[in-house]
Amino acid sequence: MTNIILLGPPGAGKGTQAKRLVEERGMVQLSTGDMLREARSSGTEMGQRVAAVMDRGELVTDEIVIGLIREKLTSGAAHGGYIFDGFPRTLAQADALGALLSELGQSLDHVIEMRVDDEVLVARITGRSTCGNCGEVYHDVTRPVPADGKCVNCGSTEIKRRADDNEDALRTRLLAYYKQTSPLIGYYHAKGQLESVNGLAAIEAVAAEISGLLGSQTQDA
Ligand code: AMP
Repeated sequence: MTNIILLGPPGAGKGTQAKRLVEERGMVQLSTGDMLREARSSGTEMGQRVAAVMDRGELVTDEIVIGLIREKLTSGAAHGGYIFDGFPRTLAQADALGALLSELGQSLDHVIEMRVDDEVLVARITGRSTCGNCGEVYHDVTRPVPADGKCVNCGSTEIKRRADDNEDALRTRLLAYYKQTSPLIGYYHAKGQLESVNGLAAIEAVAAEISGLLGSQTQDA
């Protein structure tokens, strides 16, 4: 069982690579962004509380996201390991994750930073859309939605843009990343756990680089 963090700014490709790892290695993706969007769309009290914060591109409280992760980690084992995608995003979250994993007798095996340039992020994010049913990611230029409007993966026509994938919110999200999340690069570097890949390369090439770091464990490892 291998637990990994994918670290990088919005648009670095964390979700795309996480989905591949789920398919190829039977790992379980834990995206706090997805969990929060789910809470919003199912109209829970917490979902309603975080909606405006998310739309502005700011971070929701540590307490909420740590609670979400705690719930997932304590509710069952993922034999292929966990991919933390968009979590941790603050030093307090990183400390909480470390404590939670050791409480459960588990380890954090890789922290993979996806390095990208800001200009690329704007282009990637403003053209992005996602299948509301299966999470498949599309892009107006590099991976357009098929002409019939149906998801290539599941056939759903529920392909949507995220409310925070606009330039204003993106600016706030980038600022939040540099102010609150990028210190994690130093944090994990100091612990000797940081590895990085070139997030500007093609999806396949990034996937190959990540695979190289993870080694050849299979689903039963
Ligand atoms: P993402 O899908 O990872 O880009 O997350 C979308 C939004 O959800 C972020 O802009 C934050 O408002 C919120 N969010 C997701 N993960 C976290 C986290 N670990 N800590 C705080 N806020 C988060």
